[in-house]
Amino acid sequence: MSERLEEIRQNLADVHTRIATACSRAGRSAAEVTLVAVTKTRPADDVRALAQLGVGDIGENRDQEAAAKAAECADLDVRWHFVGQLQTRKARSVARYAYMVHSVDRPRLIGALGRGARDAHRTVRCLVQVNLDPPGISGELATRGGVPPTEAVKLADKVVEEEGLELAGVMAVASRQGDPEAGFAVLADAAAAVRERYPQADVVSAGMSGDLELAVAHGATHLRIGAALLGDRAPIVG
Ligand SMILES: *Cc1c(COP(=O)(O)O)cnc(C)c1O
Repeated sequence: MSERLEEIRQNLADVHTRIATACSRAGRSAAEVTLVAVTKTRPADDVRALAQLGVGDIGENRDQEAAAKAAECADLDVRWHFVGQLQTRKARSVARYAYMVHSVDRPRLIGALGRGARDAHRTVRCLVQVNLDPPGISGELATRGGVPPTEAVKLADKVVEEEGLELAGVMAVASRQGDPEAGFAVLADAAAAVRERYPQADVVSAGMSGDLELAVAHGATHLRIGAALLGDRAPIVG
């Protein structure tokens, strides 16, 4: 086994242990939780290693990088999750390879993703991104993307109306402001409101390397884990 594969294997085992412990504390089954390995900034070989270790869900946050990696890994049986802020002009490209887009947060993006999906004869699953910042946060401190929790159902309606898209649930990134626990509780409420109208839209994408336990306690079904699996990323320059 190569050194890198061995390193990822160990990290994956640790993450699975954390998920199992969190599920057991929350009285949930680990089978309810899907691990999405976030491979941004990492080479396609890491995706290969993850696939070899049984991880079938891969997350990326930039179209250019994701499209290239998806093409390089076309022989693998993995599903691509787009988890980052998505520009409308990139929607067409993303619709060609994404199994699920986690960051749907405006009507124009829904239209563009729908057109891209129809042209590619695909169905793209969509999560409505909910912004968890407490009121009054702006500038550097603000989380990018997401609708206010009270508008999640309205945007979910738009996804449902768009041919080529399938509403799958909600997603959020924890706010750097305020109590994270309160934030995840707000997300759980938004998820319930969407599910009340669309029972099949049961995905709750929340939780990253640092807060997966809290996310599981608040009902997350999809965890987006990067650093805990693949190591710390180099800081983004420029
Ligand atoms: C990078 C990223 C993650 C993974 O974060 P880690 O802290 O590396 O686990 C999850 N979600 C989104 C939207 C990301 O951009």
